[in-house]
Amino acid sequence: MAVPKKKSGRCAQGHRRSHWKANPQSLVKCSNCNEMAITHTVCASCGYYDGKLASKKVAE
Ligand SMILES: [Zn+2]
Repeated sequence: MAVPKKKSGRCAQGHRRSHWKANPQSLVKCSNCNEMAITHTVCASCGYYDGKLASKKVAE
């Protein structure tokens, strides 16, 4: 495995981490309850996903 020859300085570290950021979650309207829900995720308010009941726990 390649091993770095020199310790990278604070400047290089900062430049590297300048791209390290969380991007906002994209939201879609739930087809069942019309509330905003995170994409590719079971709806938090009704428990539906892809038009089907996916989580009974959430629905209750
Ligand atoms: Zn929903």
